[in-house]
Amino acid sequence: MDREAENDLFAHNVKEMDPLVIDQMVHKLNQDISPRIDCTVCGNCCKTLLINVEEGEANRLTNHLALSRTDFDHQYLEKGSNGMMIMNAIPCSFLTEKKCSVYEFRFDGCREFPAMHLPGFSKRLFTTLMHYGRCPIIFNIVEAMKEQMSDV
Ligand code: SF4
Ligand code: SF4
Repeated sequence: MDREAENDLFAHNVKEMDPLVIDQMVHKLNQDISPRIDCTVCGNCCKTLLINVEEGEANRLTNHLALSRTDFDHQYLEKGSNGMMIMNAIPCSFLTEKKCSVYEFRFDGCREFPAMHLPGFSKRLFTTLMHYGRCPIIFNIVEAMKEQMSDV
């Protein structure tokens, strides 16, 4: 079976299982797998995610960069009519080679990705699998889940 068909089957099987059992499995695997993956030699998420930005986060980073908010917003943000703000560039403007140049001041969206520590894996399945080939954390967790689920 090719990878796409295998992942379709995986998605089908996840949807058939209790979401709480799935979350327990994901959290346990995440505790084992995440510490063994070095994000500083990857940076793939910073090349593909459009990060949401909150006011407080924008203010903190603006101060760190010693810019005015007007200049920061102009250089780095895209604003929606509903007040929503996102970073305006992919790859992210703050990515230097494979590392974040503003790591201490990165946004919550960056800190959360790939969200393997959060509840609701089953609900995020589609977006998680979109990053399967890019994020080694997701790849390894999904592959370990396939193995565990075939043992059930
Ligand atoms: S702010 Fe840093 S961690 Fe967040 S997307 Fe940009 S480079 Fe990556
Ligand atoms: S894509 Fe995954 S492994 Fe790579 S930097 Fe982002 S979170 Fe870390």
